Amino acid sequence: MKKTAVVTGAAGFLGSHLTDRLLAEDYRVIGIDNLLTGNTRNIEHLAGNADFQFIKHDVTNYIYLPGAVDLVFHMASPASPIDYLQLPIQTLKVGSLGTHNALGLAKAKSARFLLASTSECYGDPLVHPQKEDYWGNVNPIGPRGVYDEAKRFAEAMTMAYHRYHKVDTKIVRIFNTYGPRMRLEDGRVVPAFIGQALQGHALTVFGDGSQTRSFCYVSDLIDGIFRLSQSDYHEPVNIGNPAEMTVIEFAREILKITGINAPIEHRPLPVDDPKVRQPDISLARRVLGWEPKVTFDVGIRKTLEYFRHFLSLPS
Ligand code: UDP
Repeated sequence: MKKTAVVTGAAGFLGSHLTDRLLAEDYRVIGIDNLLTGNTRNIEHLAGNADFQFIKHDVTNYIYLPGAVDLVFHMASPASPIDYLQLPIQTLKVGSLGTHNALGLAKAKSARFLLASTSECYGDPLVHPQKEDYWGNVNPIGPRGVYDEAKRFAEAMTMAYHRYHKVDTKIVRIFNTYGPRMRLEDGRVVPAFIGQALQGHALTVFGDGSQTRSFCYVSDLIDGIFRLSQSDYHEPVNIGNPAEMTVIEFAREILKITGINAPIEHRPLPVDDPKVRQPDISLARRVLGWEPKVTFDVGIRKTLEYFRHFLSLPS
């Protein structure tokens, strides 16, 4: 008998890659998505796969599923700053009500539960790099607060279900991740710069570009999440790539790798944009035996290939 996993947000960037990994690990997968920011294009290759079932549903409403479930992955949420600025209420609801419903499903089925949390829990961090025991520096009422606080609430709710209801829960704090199936227009820096470069437009660097991010390729991230789901660890674990660079360095790298000579244009820095971000992954190394393997150069080339194909450009 195959095990059954439920993936909320299965038609999204990370949810769809996680679904592929679970199917490869011989799970049956029930994917749930309301397609607000997800797209069935990300799972169309699974049409006809007897081990995959898709349900279009908004998990902020009660989730009813017949039959046994072994694992619930709560991946659903807008995840790009532009998306959650345009969808503030939905972002708050999926992190709060959606997490509650997904935890309720896990409890009812005696299933394990994994929450997709975020480095945004650290806000604009005053500790660098960020370790899991840092409580963060979040502005609750700023425009990003809708995402940050929803995820912080989701973590609190997950730990309460673990402590009070004894649900076997895990929490992953996901740092900036990139790769195929990101939406070209989602506003995040990787698809933004790649899309702009490939179309010969100016690269839009927010602020002076001295803010830093650390970019993890999607297959590494999914491997970390899968390992965490199989572990006995219950507190939050950072998964990300510690290779840190400034946004302006990132823009120059994209121009160098594509060989495209587009200009760089500066735009206003979004409110509360974190000045630095880098995961301390010593916990993931210790409890999961995990560390990223895909170099920036390899990951970016694979991502470029995807967007070239998406834009019908020659490779
Ligand atoms: N950024 C940028 N130009 C863009 C999009 C983003 O300079 O067109 C910057 C943004 O201000 C931030 C970093 O790139 O400092 C990463 O932004 P992203 O939206 O990818 O996610 P975040 O890490 O802020 O959640």
